[in-house]
Amino acid sequence: MSKQKLHQFFSISTFLFCVFIYFPVSAEEAKELNLYSARHYQTDEALYSDFTKKTGIKINRIEADDNALAERLKSEGSKSPADVILMVDAARLWRAQIDSFFKPIHSSYLEGRIPANLRSKPDAQGSTWFGFSTRARLVVYNKAKVNPLEVDTYEKLAEPQNKGKVCTRSGAHPYMLSLIGAMIERRGEAATEEWSKGMVANMARAPRGGDTDQIKAVAAGECGVALTNSYYLIRLLRSKNPEDQAIVSKIGFIWPNQQTSGTHINIAGGGVAKNAPHSQAAIQFLDYLASDTAQDYFANGNNEWPVVKSVKIENEGLKILGSFKAENISIAAIGKNQIAAQRLLDRVGYK
Ligand code: FE
Repeated sequence: MSKQKLHQFFSISTFLFCVFIYFPVSAEEAKELNLYSARHYQTDEALYSDFTKKTGIKINRIEADDNALAERLKSEGSKSPADVILMVDAARLWRAQIDSFFKPIHSSYLEGRIPANLRSKPDAQGSTWFGFSTRARLVVYNKAKVNPLEVDTYEKLAEPQNKGKVCTRSGAHPYMLSLIGAMIERRGEAATEEWSKGMVANMARAPRGGDTDQIKAVAAGECGVALTNSYYLIRLLRSKNPEDQAIVSKIGFIWPNQQTSGTHINIAGGGVAKNAPHSQAAIQFLDYLASDTAQDYFANGNNEWPVVKSVKIENEGLKILGSFKAENISIAAIGKNQIAAQRLLDRVGYK
């Protein structure tokens, strides 16, 4: 072997050795993923199993609500095994970024696919999160009991004509706190406190249950009007179950605030956890969530709007809801108003 050939041989074998050393590490790293998720939708099973089928990466799931996940991440600190954190509320995502739960990552794929207003700006450390789907907060009303013109804004729900008719889930739930945080941004704290007082005065019953429970109570006539995230309503609209169809026959729905500020929307999204032991797999998973396939699952599985605009929505429920004017308030503004929102709810006794 000539000197040159010998040199080439060693270069190639050194290269191969390095490949051998490094690739098994990332291959091993990529075999599993610890997912901390506040998503609570059965149809997500298909999303996770499809990712595992495509990549061979097993997903270990820890599921809890946004607050419980945040507490867990805080108590685990730098020893947290979390790789990916998914939350279902923009204000909680905003808070999670401030609490440094996310790791700086760079994915030109995610940046290209997800519009800038549906993901965070990187903070000083570069940590960031991405929205993967959106949902709207709608009004549902009992067609026999309520005139839709009297409930076509969030503001009207707190007016005297709706006394004894209003139902919501707990005011402390992120879906409500974000709605109220947005209202504080639009109308100020004093006006929002007045609104909350009016809501409490108009309650048909003390807040309890989830959004689907509110829709059922409206259909049963226990409540005249309630608030729900769009996908819970669409799930019922698309259902072939006669019980669900009976519920749907009794209710109407409204896009609130179409003549004014627009309907409140929220984001489900996530990022790579700060101390992710499997960060390559975590990025792969986030990239997957922005893929056409996963975006289609969000739309057709859980009836959410995909964030990737080029994804075609073939969902009868979303089509029935049609298009609407959305509220345009920054996530940071809604996030920073969360504490004020909770305080004013406490002052007016909105449980
Ligand atoms: Fe939900």
